[in-house]
Amino acid sequence: MKTPSILALGIMLSAPAALCAAPDPNWLGHDRDRPQPALVDPGTPSSLDQPGRPPSDATVLFGGKDTSQWVAMDGSPTKWIIRDGVFECVPGSGYVRTLQSFGDCQLHVEWASPTPPHGDSQGRGNSGVFFGYDRYECQVLDSFQNPTYADGGAAAIYGQYPPLVNAMRPPGQWETYDIVWTAPRFNAEGNLVSKARETVFHNGVLVQNNVELTGPTGWIGRVPYKAHPERLPIALQDHGNPVRFRNIWVRELGNPRHKEFMLPDAVLETYVGDYGANKGNHVTIRRVPDGLLSLTLAGQELVMHAQSQTKFFALTTDVQCEFQFTDASKVVAVSVGDPEEHSMKFERQAP
Ligand code: MG
Repeated sequence: MKTPSILALGIMLSAPAALCAAPDPNWLGHDRDRPQPALVDPGTPSSLDQPGRPPSDATVLFGGKDTSQWVAMDGSPTKWIIRDGVFECVPGSGYVRTLQSFGDCQLHVEWASPTPPHGDSQGRGNSGVFFGYDRYECQVLDSFQNPTYADGGAAAIYGQYPPLVNAMRPPGQWETYDIVWTAPRFNAEGNLVSKARETVFHNGVLVQNNVELTGPTGWIGRVPYKAHPERLPIALQDHGNPVRFRNIWVRELGNPRHKEFMLPDAVLETYVGDYGANKGNHVTIRRVPDGLLSLTLAGQELVMHAQSQTKFFALTTDVQCEFQFTDASKVVAVSVGDPEEHSMKFERQAP
C-alpha cells in the first residue's frame, strides 16, 4: 500500500466513495501492487417462471421462504403474506420496510401485478419501491396498455421523471427492476450537499439514467429536501393492490464499518431514560427522528445508530453503547465507550 498524498487524503475524506468518478491518484496505471477486486459469484438470472440466484455478496431481502427482513413501518410485524413462495401485499395493511438500513446500494426487485388486470390508470397494480424509508419512490404499476400520466407509470421516479421507455411485460408476468441508488448527502447543519441519484433497468432495459432527484417524491407538487440519515430502510408500497414480489436482494456500496438497522419503535422506547452515576457522570437516552437514539454524557450529545438489537454506534466519534438486560428482558444498564478499552457502565435509574 502506498502512502496517500496529503492532497489525495483530503479528497478521500471529503467525498463519499460512490460519488468519486475520478481514478484514484494513489495508484499508477497498471500498478501491480494495487489490490485485486473481491471475488463474487454472480449467481444466475431469473427466468419468467423461476427466480434466479443472487450474487454471493448480496443481502437477500426476500428469498421465498420468510419475511424476517421485513416489518411494518413502525417496526411491528408485517401483515403482508407469503403465498406460493411469493411476498404479497395485503391491501390496507400498510407499507413494509426492511429492518436493515441502506445508503448507496444496488437493489434487485422482481414484481408481478395482479392478473387478470383490475382497475385502470393509477389503480392498476400500483405499488412502489422506496429508498430513504418513505421518501423516494420508483413507481410500480401495471403499465401494460394502461395509460396514465407519464411520470406516474412503471419505473417512473414518481412525479419527477417518466421512464425513458415503457418496457412492461403483460400482466401477471414477472418484471425486474435493477436499481442503483445514491443517497442524498446533508452536512452537520442539515444543508443539502448533494442530491439523490437513481439509475433503473426495467427488464434489463435502461429506463432511468442516473437522474438527479429534485427531492422526495410526492403526489402533489415538488417537495424540497429535508435532512435525514444517509442510511435508511427500503420500503414497498401498499397502494391497495395485491402486487406480488420475489427474489429481492441488495448490495450495499461503500463498505460501511457497521451494518445498520432501524429498530422497532417499541424496542427503542424501552431504552429511553436516565442512567447513572459513574464517576460523577450520568447518561441520558432520548429518541430522535428516523429511528435513532441520542446519548448525552458529560454535556455532550451523540446521535446513536443501531448495529444490532442492543448495540449502537456514533458516526462522528468512535463511541459505542450497549444496553444490558435482566433475565426478564428489562433494560438495567448501558455501557458506553470504545468497546476495546474505556467502557463505562451506567445503571438504570428509576423514572
Ligand atoms: Mg406507487
